[in-house]
Amino acid sequence: MIRKVLTTPDKKLRDKSRDLKSSEIQSKKIEDLVNDIYETISSGEYGVGMSAIQIGEPVAVSVVMIRPTPNRPNLENFTKVYYNAKIENVYGEKEPMWEGCCSVLDDESNPIYAKVPRYKRICVRYLDRVGKEHEDEVDGFLAHVLQHEIDHINGIIFTDLVPKSEIVSQDEYRSILGIKK
Ligand SMILES: [Zn+2]
Repeated sequence: MIRKVLTTPDKKLRDKSRDLKSSEIQSKKIEDLVNDIYETISSGEYGVGMSAIQIGEPVAVSVVMIRPTPNRPNLENFTKVYYNAKIENVYGEKEPMWEGCCSVLDDESNPIYAKVPRYKRICVRYLDRVGKEHEDEVDGFLAHVLQHEIDHINGIIFTDLVPKSEIVSQDEYRSILGIKK
């Protein structure tokens, strides 16, 4: 079922999501939730990830669904669910990366964008769909998306991480990056 995506300033987006017990992960309730997140991301045009809190459920479930976007047309498709995701370690310096969020829209309901400092390489700890724990070293765009989603789990929104003056509209973003409408 496609769910309504909460948008700022909805206070619920500031809730900290709770971890799931590994036994809960295979419950009908959580499986239905994951399917709803998939359907909800798929119904939007550009989203590459969504966490349960964005549809109002404060549990640590994030779906990554990387697909080509106007800014990054060469991305390879990659889909995976992360339960109880945590950043275990980070490497090197942060680098500013363009991002937007389907929970952060302007008055005309268009996404806004900013260059957010993100680590290029991280170690992420999480449970998989059968409740098994993993630690993966990830880099590139996946590392970027996971930092954004793990922030959601902790009630953090990307616009918290940049000065207001650095936030741009969708039109400005498209013109900076030379993206045709
Ligand atoms: Zn987001």
